Amino acid sequence: MLEAKLVSKSSPQHKSVVALCDSASCGGVELLIIGGPCTVESREQMETTARHLAGAPVQALRGGVYKPRTSPYAFQGMGAEGLEILSAVSKKHQVPVVTEVMSPEQVPLVSQQADMLQIGSRNMQNFELLKAVGQQKKPVLLKRGLSATIEEFIMAAEYVMAHGNPNVILCERGIRSFDPYTRNVLDLGAVVALKQLTHLPVIVDPSHAAGKRELVADLARAAVACGADGLIIECHPEPEKSVSDARQALSLEDMVALVHSLRPIAHAVGRTIAGDKVKAQLQVVSAAATRSILTGTRISSRACGRS
Ligand code: PEP
Ligand code: MN
Repeated sequence: MLEAKLVSKSSPQHKSVVALCDSASCGGVELLIIGGPCTVESREQMETTARHLAGAPVQALRGGVYKPRTSPYAFQGMGAEGLEILSAVSKKHQVPVVTEVMSPEQVPLVSQQADMLQIGSRNMQNFELLKAVGQQKKPVLLKRGLSATIEEFIMAAEYVMAHGNPNVILCERGIRSFDPYTRNVLDLGAVVALKQLTHLPVIVDPSHAAGKRELVADLARAAVACGADGLIIECHPEPEKSVSDARQALSLEDMVALVHSLRPIAHAVGRTIAGDKVKAQLQVVSAAATRSILTGTRISSRACGRS
């Protein structure tokens, strides 16, 4: 392993919690569940999504406004107008929002309007972009490259941290292989390895891994069982009409059902889901105690939807 002095664990107990805002964080006892469409398409679409997912409970909304599309002729995202929608919905529903940033020039605007900046798989080794998100304060959701080794993934996170931002969440989203039946191969072994090697939270994106909606729920449950700190899942008010990644989008109803189905698995591995009523019965340390054993940095809290 190359020198990853900032990302590597200093002891088995060394775990960082990354806070998106007052109400949502990742890496503690509670799982972070992020849901929403692949692409922001309209205010109405995001409003409907936010309303439904509040009952899931989902703590953060996703939606791309700068989209990395394979074809230059495909819809490229709403850009600044989509960011306004995300920011308005975030304020109204008091929910943090996560969106992708594709170039260093987009970073200032996106970091003003969103609570967490996503670096997509295709940009995992865009080093200028990694430096740019490292130089601003909002948390970074770093997705594993399409064919990136675990070492390359870790070193990409090291770039962000080395440029001043300790608030990085890693995301396993499947890697390229020979079988087109699933869009990618979900590498849960990497989740376990990353949890052992690094102190950073690790979440799983079963949607881009599977590419088929009927595979998403089981993969999500497997991810929680193997120690993931959260999930990011694509869902849409009208999945078949999604402008991108329609085949893997869940309905909002299925998304809510999926989150509820995670509970017994989360509890079995000592984790909770937001809004859990059984917290007290769990053999888990309190949030305060959890924080006290953490040696990683926790960013100062702020209300959702505010920069
Ligand atoms: C996405 O989250 O919409 C996306 C494009 O993901 P990835 O970069 O993992 O393909
Ligand atoms: Mn997508």
